[in-house]
Amino acid sequence: MADPAWVRTPFVTAAGVDVVFYEVPDGGIAEALDPASVGEFLEWSTALLGPLPYGPELRFAGAPTAWLGFEHPANIVLQEQIDELNTAYENTAMHVTMHEIVHQWAGDEATLASAQDFAWKEAIAEYLSYVFEDEARPPAEAASSLAYWDQISLQASFHVRPMDEPPPSVEVFYGDVYGPGPMVLFVQLESLLGRDVVLDAVAAFLDGGGARSVDDLRLALEAASGEDLQPYFDAWVVGVGAPSWPAFVATAESLAPGMVTVDVTQETEGGDPFPCLIEVELQGATITQIVEIDFGLAPASGTASATVAFAEPVVAVVVDPRHRVVNRPPGAAAMPTELLPVWKF
Ligand SMILES: [Zn+2]
Repeated sequence: MADPAWVRTPFVTAAGVDVVFYEVPDGGIAEALDPASVGEFLEWSTALLGPLPYGPELRFAGAPTAWLGFEHPANIVLQEQIDELNTAYENTAMHVTMHEIVHQWAGDEATLASAQDFAWKEAIAEYLSYVFEDEARPPAEAASSLAYWDQISLQASFHVRPMDEPPPSVEVFYGDVYGPGPMVLFVQLESLLGRDVVLDAVAAFLDGGGARSVDDLRLALEAASGEDLQPYFDAWVVGVGAPSWPAFVATAESLAPGMVTVDVTQETEGGDPFPCLIEVELQGATITQIVEIDFGLAPASGTASATVAFAEPVVAVVVDPRHRVVNRPPGAAAMPTELLPVWKF
């Protein structure tokens, strides 16, 4: 019998936890990660969510898994060649490491009320990894997460919280939550409520562990923000069959010297406008500027506008340049013809 000869290798100690790796000889996962940055992520996530739930040691192993990684209490398995995989994430090894650490609280300690509530645990693992990327990692990492989620959202065949009867089995729809989950449950709400409010809601939602539903997450977001989010969840989150995402058409017009008015109109299947704040980039010959178009949490109209100072003639208008709202291109088919691989972990 061959001895796998896995070796226990201390990696970093942070937030009161010893992170150790078990890799096969010549395994490259630990080597691909920066211990200081992983330690900083542990300190940050612990400050937000409380001590890691499963004691003073967190073990990582490499294995030939189908998924990029998998969470178990105090034990995380990562795909053994994750350091060499070419995914849509700018830094796959770091992103997946953070994602699986978040699952210690979001998925393991707090878990799913039903299979159809699967989205929240992946959405929280993805979103908190993104927030750390945005605040503490090279800018290309956060940008790659948003761009990837925005793109694969268009491929979803089920809503983030499917209401189909009978319910689809989890392996039929779980690949559909990795993009829309973090986008509609958190990133889009950051623009409407503020990041601090969203993070407070995530912490309160997970506090104490136990079974949680997507609707419990709505209640936590409402408690943190003081807003009624039922119209938002009805439009973006819950539903039967494939989601029908809105399209946005933007125009820019100069009605006074040095001033530009941006009008944005939503194209939606049912005709009802989606609650959102969408960014539009004005491009001049030498300058660019992002304009926020706020439809609000309960829009009565499918058109919204804003007027800003902009010193040059507008040569182009780009909708959602930073990929912060799920939207299909105007006039495009509901489902893209070329599908991206969706990574599950
Ligand atoms: Zn996950």
